[in-house]
Amino acid sequence: MTLDCDVVVVGAGAAGTSGAIALARSVRSVVVVDGGEPRNGVSDHAHNVLGREGVRPLDLLAEGRREAEGYGVRFVDDRVVVARREHDRFELVLLGGTTVRARRVLLASGLVDELPDVPGVREFWGSSVLHCPYCHGWEVRGQRIGVLGSGPNSLHQTLLFRQLSPDVTLFQHTLDDVPEETRRQLAALGVRVVHGEVRRVSGTDGNLTLDLGETAETVQALVVAPRFRARGDLFAQLGGELTPHPLGEFVQTGTGGVTDVPGVFAAGNVTDLGAMVAAASGSGVLAGAAINGDLVAEDARAAVLAR
Ligand SMILES: Cc1cc2nc3c(=O)[nH]c(=O)nc-3n(C[C@H](O)[C@H](O)[C@H](O)COP(=O)(O)OP(=O)(O)OC[C@H]3O[C@@H](n4cnc5c(N)ncnc54)[C@H](O)[C@@H]3O)c2cc1C
Repeated sequence: MTLDCDVVVVGAGAAGTSGAIALARSVRSVVVVDGGEPRNGVSDHAHNVLGREGVRPLDLLAEGRREAEGYGVRFVDDRVVVARREHDRFELVLLGGTTVRARRVLLASGLVDELPDVPGVREFWGSSVLHCPYCHGWEVRGQRIGVLGSGPNSLHQTLLFRQLSPDVTLFQHTLDDVPEETRRQLAALGVRVVHGEVRRVSGTDGNLTLDLGETAETVQALVVAPRFRARGDLFAQLGGELTPHPLGEFVQTGTGGVTDVPGVFAAGNVTDLGAMVAAASGSGVLAGAAINGDLVAEDARAAVLAR
């Protein structure tokens, strides 16, 4: 089966669905292909979402999908495996065999959180194993919080979570030496620093045991620093290159999500590793508007030539 449209959107998270609505409201035909793995799908609640504080992430996306469908957006639950340019069209081939042909591509494929390789971390990810003080911080305020020294952001995270609780311990784990100035700050703020690698996380939600070999520690929440890897394989297939970032890698964009691959735009976490739901949604709307503007300009040039 082949589907033809003005714009194909890869990903029906906050970014892709918002972009699709902006495009459809500009009377553009839009196909959204979605693999069904939104990043915060593991969480029960999404916070800092204006007007929908604490909404269940999957409910929010389902409502967004219904709104988009109301404007004629077509959703396909499948995975794009091949993306290529064929003359003046893009062709995206889906795992199920369908081909989508479009004039423009909006990549809203999100990112993968590469978690520290410690048994048990994945099991509690999104509930008692956290990364973002703005997503889950209020919920663990005042609690016994551990920070796993697992990435370049760990020291910053320690200070951010110290704002939320007086009882914060930094487990140095794989973190190299803590700079003297930071060590002094942590001591002044009453943050304990525990040496040694955490070998396993076990327990129940809200009551985690960290196995350090000779000793064990308990915390109510554990903060980790994942590596943020943009889902950029399709961008690479289209001739783009991922840009390295201290916390991972991402698709570089300009205003309106424009990339350096003509006709390809990006929005949400694939291009902004720090974007939360509202920012991802906003960038999707801006990219939708930019794509429509691009198509309007192309249509106007074509109209003159056709006279
Ligand atoms: C544990 C956790 C909790 C969070 N809590 C909050 C919170 O409380 N508040 C908040 O504002 N933010 C929160 N976030 C951040 C939030 O998840 C992101 O801001 C948001 O998901 C970004 O939206 P997006 O559309 O860019 O990507 P996503 O929501 O990840 O959506 C991307 C979609 O693209 C699809 N996709 C990828 N590749 C393909 C392909 N090749 N073919 C088809 N489909 C594809 C995926 O399956 C996925 O459905 C949290 C993040 C995590 C990890």
